[in-house]
Amino acid sequence: MKDTPKDLDPQQLDRRHLLHPWTHFDSFAADGALMLDRGEGCYVWDTADRRYLDAVGGLWCTNIGLGRKEMADAIADQALRLAFSNTFVDMGNTPSAKLAAKLADLAPGDLNRVHFTTGGSTAIDSAYRMVAFYHRVMGRPEKTHVIARDQSYHGATYASISIGKRPGDKVPEFAYAQDGIHHVSAPDTYRMPDGFDEAVLSDRLVAEFEAKIKEIGTDRVGAFFAEPIQASGGVVMPPDGYLKRMADVCRKHDILFIADEVVTGFGRIGHWFASEDVFDVTPDIICCAKGLSSGYQPIGAVIFSDRIYNAMQGDRWYASGYTYAGHPVACAAALKNIEIIEDEDLLHRAKRVGGYLEARLGALSDLPMVGDVRGRRLMMCVESVADKETKTPLPDHLGVGKLISNAAEAHGLLVRPIGALNVISPALVITEAEIDFMAETLEVAIQEVADDLVRNGER
Ligand code: PMP
Repeated sequence: MKDTPKDLDPQQLDRRHLLHPWTHFDSFAADGALMLDRGEGCYVWDTADRRYLDAVGGLWCTNIGLGRKEMADAIADQALRLAFSNTFVDMGNTPSAKLAAKLADLAPGDLNRVHFTTGGSTAIDSAYRMVAFYHRVMGRPEKTHVIARDQSYHGATYASISIGKRPGDKVPEFAYAQDGIHHVSAPDTYRMPDGFDEAVLSDRLVAEFEAKIKEIGTDRVGAFFAEPIQASGGVVMPPDGYLKRMADVCRKHDILFIADEVVTGFGRIGHWFASEDVFDVTPDIICCAKGLSSGYQPIGAVIFSDRIYNAMQGDRWYASGYTYAGHPVACAAALKNIEIIEDEDLLHRAKRVGGYLEARLGALSDLPMVGDVRGRRLMMCVESVADKETKTPLPDHLGVGKLISNAAEAHGLLVRPIGALNVISPALVITEAEIDFMAETLEVAIQEVADDLVRNGER
């Protein structure tokens, strides 16, 4: 056994032993981690008992809010009754069966089949595998290529990160999968080429998609992956009607439309799923996670159509799946989470407070450094720019999003920095008064950072 000092506090232990996902080494070395200790509703407290309003919602995920006794009870009850059972081959358990049925109930169209995973990345991986399996049994074995979009984030496993394409995610030292993975432009309505409006942009994007399919070969493209609103890629709001047109193109060429609803699902923008309710698209497959359990347990799901399920039947194995797929405790948590969303009518609440958030944050666009405030309901971001007119980005090295989030943190507000963006995605239980605090504090933080940049001659 090693001679590790016994008197270190949690932050020191963290610094000595933990490699954080997506960490930036220099900034971590300078600041260490903000160590959280407890949470209730939309608030979290650090280990020094300082309170913060969590406008990040954990990581787009604490939809019902933290500290729910009924969640703790559901988790504890299930852990005592049956803490684990695998769901391989022909093993089952009650919570996973009930959750699968519930998801089928909530999902659009004939999406009545569920394959559980451990989170969002593994849901994307699993869906990717399903594409090839489905097309092979349909007698289209060449249809293994997939198309995704620039600025997308679909997860961090080998396959899911290869499918995504956010700038900077693919570091040069690692060989990501490239064969059979293709990308088309992001539907970015903020930075459109000169002379474009949304309709023209939409036409161009659809034409680009059709051209890409043709270039790869219609008989080789198996699926299109799309977040209804691209999340970590910058809360990219698509032009009106675009997603539906993309789905129509997919349908025409037997290309599966896979909606990555890891962020948009379970109420974040006021609906169980955004694809159908907001964008009028019935996907073939929905990948979800995060709000599925509001982060109380790690769980994800691939919800897919009867059409795909029926086609896969026969004398063959479905060779994919994880030990913790259909984990009874995670499924019990997700069931209780969905029950709470229903009982407290949180979808309607998300619409109401989400509208208020849009309005309050929207007012920040008057600030000289704010180029854009965009998003939908409880999925918003504020983008800082060097020049509002030209939309010229601020230089990356300034890390302006991080400067703003640090300033906000000092005032008791957590917002997430992504480049020059600050993302706001609070729990659905947020109140108007909390949104007021959020907007006012964010304004102060942005002003402080803007003033500092001017003082230092960087703006
Ligand atoms: N898809 C989207 C749209 C996401 O935002 C994320 C995570 N932020 C993922 C997939 C990956 O999910 P996870 O981190 O649970 O693996």
